Amino acid sequence: MAIKVDMDKCIGCGTCVKVCPMNIYELKGKKTHVKDGAEKDCIQCHACEANCPVKCITIE
Ligand code: SF4
Ligand code: SF4
Repeated sequence: MAIKVDMDKCIGCGTCVKVCPMNIYELKGKKTHVKDGAEKDCIQCHACEANCPVKCITIE
């Protein structure tokens, strides 16, 4: 499992931060980031992927 974010496309809207039930994302500056060590906690609900307005998140 891997969380991939196309940082060139991210507009820093914070939607992924709000919808993730596992609190995996945080905003730094104007971009989202996966918190250090948080990727392993992802339950693959795909909420972030589905709700990102610019579709820059892929859960593989
Ligand atoms: S798939 Fe679900 S748990 Fe994983 S990062 Fe996205 S919102 Fe969070
Ligand atoms: S929902 Fe998408 S555009 Fe918005 S902060 Fe998250 S990754 Fe960036």
